[in-house]
Amino acid sequence: MGPPGSGKTSVAAVLAQKLNMPTYDIDNDHLESVWGTTVADKLATLGDEGFLKAEAEATCFVDKQDTIISLTGSNPLVPKGMEHLKKNGIAVFLDVAHGEIVRRCEEMKVDRIVGQASSPLADILAKRTQIYENVYDVRVLVEEGATVEKIADQVVDQVNKDQRFFSTRNCASDAEKAQQSTENFFDVVQQGLSNDRGLYYPEYLPSISLKQLERLVPLSYQERSLRILELFPTANLQPADLRKMIYKAYSTFQDPNNVLPLSCIEDNVHQLEEYHGPTASFKDLALQLTPQLFTASTKASGMENDDFLFIVATSGDTGSACLHGFGQNSNTPVIVLYPKGGVSPVQEAQMTSCEGDTCVISVNSDFDFCQSTVKDIFNSPELRKIFRKDHAVHMASGNSINWGRLFPQIPYTFQAYLELVKSGRIQMGEEMDLCVPTGNFGNILGGVFAKKMGLPVGKLVVACNENNILYDFLTTGKFDARGRSLVKTPSPSIDILLPSNLERFLYFCTDKNAGMINSWFDQHATQGYFDVPADVLERMSEDVTCGWCGEDECLETISGIYDRTNLILDPHTAVGTHVAKKACEGRQNPIVVAGTAHFSKFPTAVLRALNKSLPYDASLMDVNKKMHAIKTDTAFHNSIKNLGKTKVVHKVNCEPDKEAIVTEIRKFLSARRSNALELENAALKAELASMKQGLQTLLHAKA
Ligand SMILES: *Cc1c(COP(=O)(O)O)cnc(C)c1O
Repeated sequence: MGPPGSGKTSVAAVLAQKLNMPTYDIDNDHLESVWGTTVADKLATLGDEGFLKAEAEATCFVDKQDTIISLTGSNPLVPKGMEHLKKNGIAVFLDVAHGEIVRRCEEMKVDRIVGQASSPLADILAKRTQIYENVYDVRVLVEEGATVEKIADQVVDQVNKDQRFFSTRNCASDAEKAQQSTENFFDVVQQGLSNDRGLYYPEYLPSISLKQLERLVPLSYQERSLRILELFPTANLQPADLRKMIYKAYSTFQDPNNVLPLSCIEDNVHQLEEYHGPTASFKDLALQLTPQLFTASTKASGMENDDFLFIVATSGDTGSACLHGFGQNSNTPVIVLYPKGGVSPVQEAQMTSCEGDTCVISVNSDFDFCQSTVKDIFNSPELRKIFRKDHAVHMASGNSINWGRLFPQIPYTFQAYLELVKSGRIQMGEEMDLCVPTGNFGNILGGVFAKKMGLPVGKLVVACNENNILYDFLTTGKFDARGRSLVKTPSPSIDILLPSNLERFLYFCTDKNAGMINSWFDQHATQGYFDVPADVLERMSEDVTCGWCGEDECLETISGIYDRTNLILDPHTAVGTHVAKKACEGRQNPIVVAGTAHFSKFPTAVLRALNKSLPYDASLMDVNKKMHAIKTDTAFHNSIKNLGKTKVVHKVNCEPDKEAIVTEIRKFLSARRSNALELENAALKAELASMKQGLQTLLHAKA
């Protein structure tokens, strides 16, 4: 499928050879034989509209299997014919640049495009593309000058892509895996974590060429991310639905026309501003989309009427992003555990003021305790049973262990690169470096995938704060948590000692050696450490390097940048900037630092860095006022402005005791359930009352 001149017929011919299938051309083999007259005649007698209708009707007589069918340019315009073809077919859209189509049409002297009579070709193409984009199953982004052979290969690659996901702890051989029942995209989004405690990983990783990337340069973030994400296995999620989800997700951002801007900090250092979502951290970029993917998954499994409970531990930003993502749906309640005193006052206010189907509990402990409690609850078959039976909820996961949360992060790195190309900072094909302040290793892993797909990324730099267990690991191959305890820093969102997505990275670096993964993480669980062999360390170093930054350096970076540029970085971005500059010293590549949060989320650190005093007992309003008084070229974030005026709706506090926490969770679930039952009751009563009244009216009329 595609406009005239997109190569449908010639690509179909090559595909027929490759797949050993016959071809069938609607124009040449079908229409004229059904009609008993030529297409030109039909068009002349029926006119545009009548022709389209007749064409759709004739298309409904196509009765083919295992055949490469090339459509007419106008086939997709009428749903009836397409619905018939899509019943057993896969619609492949040959997406050729419009300029190229215009050129080819002139060359071929095409004069028979339905509707062309009145409008210029470019307008027709734009309209047609919208229609193609509503119906295709697979898009092939045709690069400039691509041979028919190459396009056909890309079609085969996309149509036949492996849809399976396996756990990083599944030790079966390939032959054994071929026999196993397997999970697809929807299954893994719904399940979150595999039963064997491993993380799901796709069998198929797509690639993209520089010339294909060239086609993404003029596009918006929404369009770019659609074209990246649809390359991945997504079961039978229709691209048209994915498109709607993406647009809906980013409609909540401060400026939906500029979702993920790249700006220059100084010299060759750039910031990808990942913080323009509703809760002002990069988590929103994924978590505005994941709930929609989740809903599609429960629909696919026929469980769309069930309730799914999300329990998350947060060092600050995941909590509010999940509350705003999942917690606003009525069938995905969210429970957040956060370390009391371990998050910034703004982060705390964002969470405790969040209404919806939500419950927020502060715990008198640190993030790792919260995270391990969540894991224990998630992995307890007894609790699952109780939640199911007494509270009518299944358990699900919103952390980046869920592929549905991780995979929307892959386009960020593409965005940074494409913006550099668009602004002329680099030529397509030249490298950029990327540095990401890292906690759970999720955001940086998106960068690793982007690089693997073919994006010209030079160095990928992992930036840590004093909790630099990753730094030690990535430089020595020894992961050692013994004797380490979490240090509180000005960058609390990366105060983490067990980065959960490291497991996916190791799976990748060992060519999917689940046996090794099992033995390392088992040893970590029992003895608190593991070592990887030299070849694995070397493999890791090919993809990422690492640096870390102490508290003083972090605050100095904030004040230094402010003095020189009048911009304010958040403390995490400052950690990234400090590490990036050191790691990329003397290199020519532009460095992009992931700006993972807006500075106003971390007022205490920012005010300290800028040498502004703050009374010990300052209220959030005072803090906000003080922050707003700072003269800066970094715009304030809309969502933070009114915090402090909002009502605290969550006040539950727990000791670090799993039983006590479970009790609180069950209290929330019970209240929620009785609310639901009450509502149901009220609805039934209302229905009954109206029936009664109807009956009375009827009796009255009869009497
Ligand atoms: C979550 C978070 C990070 C760490 O991201 P990971 O994917 O966990 O590595 C960094 N900075 C901020 C502000 C965050 O909220």
